[in-house]
Amino acid sequence: MADAPTLIVPHAEVERLLPMAECIDVMGEALAAATRGEALLPLRQVLRLPSGRDAFALMPAILGSAIGAKVITVFPGNDATPYESHIGVILYFDDTHGRLLAIIDASSVTAIRTAAVSGLATRLLSNPGASRLALLGAGVQAMTHLEAMCAVRPIQQVAIWSRSTDRRAHFVTWARQRFALEVVACDTAADAVRGADVICTVTASRSPVLQGAWVPPGAHVNAVGASIASARELDTEAVEQSLLFVDRRESAMSEAGDFLIPRDEGAVDNAHIRGELGELVLGRVAGRTDPAQRTLFKSLGLAVEDVASARLIYERALATGAGTWIELGGLRPVP
Ligand code: NDP
Repeated sequence: MADAPTLIVPHAEVERLLPMAECIDVMGEALAAATRGEALLPLRQVLRLPSGRDAFALMPAILGSAIGAKVITVFPGNDATPYESHIGVILYFDDTHGRLLAIIDASSVTAIRTAAVSGLATRLLSNPGASRLALLGAGVQAMTHLEAMCAVRPIQQVAIWSRSTDRRAHFVTWARQRFALEVVACDTAADAVRGADVICTVTASRSPVLQGAWVPPGAHVNAVGASIASARELDTEAVEQSLLFVDRRESAMSEAGDFLIPRDEGAVDNAHIRGELGELVLGRVAGRTDPAQRTLFKSLGLAVEDVASARLIYERALATGAGTWIELGGLRPVP
């Protein structure tokens, strides 16, 4: 153990310490633990900035002996800048003396753990032979979602749509270099999802980019981009026609416009939520029972996912010597 008590783990180190396949398993364990009642997980606090669009969020959780909080800004307009739309840190503490063990880059953890949770949902809900993936959105989450989907299903063809032709063309070049896959850019979202087995919506849109009428029978949808009650990426039909699963009921009832707007319209009620991912992991609820059913996972992102990731990153960093130690404070002054 180093003399100084706090470990700083930057972006590049997080990517090495949190491999996607392992993160998917860790997310399954964390969500199952939360479902078993082994986590303290209040709803996140989101402060809206004067722009009305940007936000500052605090996401605390205690998961077993792991204590942590993600502190993050969300600036959706950053998609046209060199900066990520989610910037911040995860603070990770010990439960013996309350020491601050680590300060970890949150952009990279958010990118990886969100896709890992979608990977988990896809492993639990999509048809096993799913090989055609559609991505709506071409930002950070699109990149990690491609990796996560390839980790859980035999993906061979990828169709991507985003508004900007430049952005989707760059994505295609990147994806072809990174994965041995057939990747095509589409001019419309409807074109991208035609024939898809798995669809990931990863845009910053506040209004539907995916219509239920376009979703093929048997497809699984991960709806990731909208995380406030007034925004949605899916139209009402896409929700109504699907077996709906969420990361957490309490969060979905408070934050998921993709569910709340159809509910306000009277198209669905609370019972439309079949279960949480943790319940699926534990076998407490059934998932897909027929290959032709459409399944939908509504992702909001939970602090237990960040804290579970932080625990793994910290343990890995200790074992491998990664990160940089600093003496931040917390030691009692000696008189
Ligand atoms: P990026 O800023 O990297 O990418 C945003 C993408 O959305 C771009 O492809 C952009 O491309 C597209 N986009 C922006 N505005 C619109 C619009 N009005 N209509 C359609 N497409 C739009 O963001 P991330 O990839 O990091 O995040 C994507 C979304 O996922 C965000 O909304 C984010 O808040 C959410 N998110 C959810 C998490 C969860 O746990 N559920 C965790 C982290 C992020 P183009 O301009 O080409 O269309």
